[in-house]
Amino acid sequence: MNDNPEKRLIVDQEKCRSLCTCGNDHPAPTAMVLTHQDAYSLLAKDCAKAYPHESVLLLDDENTHQAAGAKVAELLEKSAVAFERVTLPADPVATDELSEEIHATSAGHSLIIAVGAGTINDLGKYVADQRQIPYWSVPTAPSMNGYTSSIVAIKVKGVKRTLPSRPPQFIYVDPQVIQDSPLNLRQAGFCDVLAKSVSDFDWQTESLLFNGGYCHLPSAITHEPEAKYIDHPEGITQGDLHAVTGLFEGLLFSGVAMSLAGSSAPASGGEHLISHFFDMREAITGKKPNLHGLQVGAGIVLSAVCYRKLAAVEIKDLKNRSREIFEADAGKIPAIWGHLAGEVGKQFAGKRDRLLQFDSLLPANWTRLKALFGGIRQPEYFVDLFRRTGLEMTLASLGMAEGEFFLAATTARTIRDRITVLDLAANAGILEEAAKETIGMLS
Ligand SMILES: [Zn+2]
Ligand SMILES: [Zn+2]
Repeated sequence: MNDNPEKRLIVDQEKCRSLCTCGNDHPAPTAMVLTHQDAYSLLAKDCAKAYPHESVLLLDDENTHQAAGAKVAELLEKSAVAFERVTLPADPVATDELSEEIHATSAGHSLIIAVGAGTINDLGKYVADQRQIPYWSVPTAPSMNGYTSSIVAIKVKGVKRTLPSRPPQFIYVDPQVIQDSPLNLRQAGFCDVLAKSVSDFDWQTESLLFNGGYCHLPSAITHEPEAKYIDHPEGITQGDLHAVTGLFEGLLFSGVAMSLAGSSAPASGGEHLISHFFDMREAITGKKPNLHGLQVGAGIVLSAVCYRKLAAVEIKDLKNRSREIFEADAGKIPAIWGHLAGEVGKQFAGKRDRLLQFDSLLPANWTRLKALFGGIRQPEYFVDLFRRTGLEMTLASLGMAEGEFFLAATTARTIRDRITVLDLAANAGILEEAAKETIGMLS
């Protein structure tokens, strides 16, 4: 991170052009980041200057208020900014109901400033987008990649949805706050940033089979800061400034990668469905999900196991029973999802046509796909990295019962209409074995 209190773009357009392999136009990244020990004073000054006669909504929760929100509020007051503060109870969940409440509160305000990480950032970004007013973000932890992204994850009628939303105009980062963030949030961010190591291959696979829309640019951009956090994961545990801010940078790049792709595909594939599955199942089982990134970590191991198994499948062993496999999994939806079955069923039906084409597309492309699968890191590599951040990385320590994880692994592909490695594994008949092998590795 630099010491210069200037706002900067994460990547400039020139660089994007030089790294693009698809030849299509990519939306120019717009979020400007200011990283400085006095970032919050500069925010207050900017705010007073930009909104001298208007009022601002300041959003945080009980935890992020302590970490940074109180300080931001104090500085806004000192700068004579008119603002209304909404402090949500600790650990809020981004639901359509909560976003509607904040939407109502935001009436009459000209800017939303959200102080926090995953949920707070999603809510602030989403409501500002709906109101068509600017959004400023004050990150409090390197826990997920949503700060710079042009999407939000919101539970709509109980189903986790990824919705488009303009990225923040400015992001004000106090590196000390990021460094001092709770360990479990740093560990979660470490897992989330590594999702790209498998999800980028999900995207390449989908592109190879269906639309050819893959571009190497998002992956090239996120690769850049990787060494800072991956070479010494112990630094995440120790709160080492280089490792933690390197991780934070990696997450900012990851969000930009999604903006550039115009989709979450570069950073969210089958491994994210595992996390979304646990988030959504709370409505059925009453079991509170774990942190997004930690659940994604378990999903990454599963995806890597699937890819290793797929790389060993021969063309002659492909099942060619896509209709039967689709119908079997569609038939499981009502028992698993209860009152959410209608919404889940719609998502799964959304990719039915593509899945039915697997019978012809997989054999026709299998040689190329296998070459692709061979380039993916081994599951043991990820387990080792996660454990080196101090995570125990067992299903028990992640709060995932074995039976529930098996159900997630074998059916999470039904909750979203995106094609991922889980669909390939199901069609090649290796998904159940991969689930069992992953459970073995995480026990
Ligand atoms: Zn491109
Ligand atoms: Zn994520």
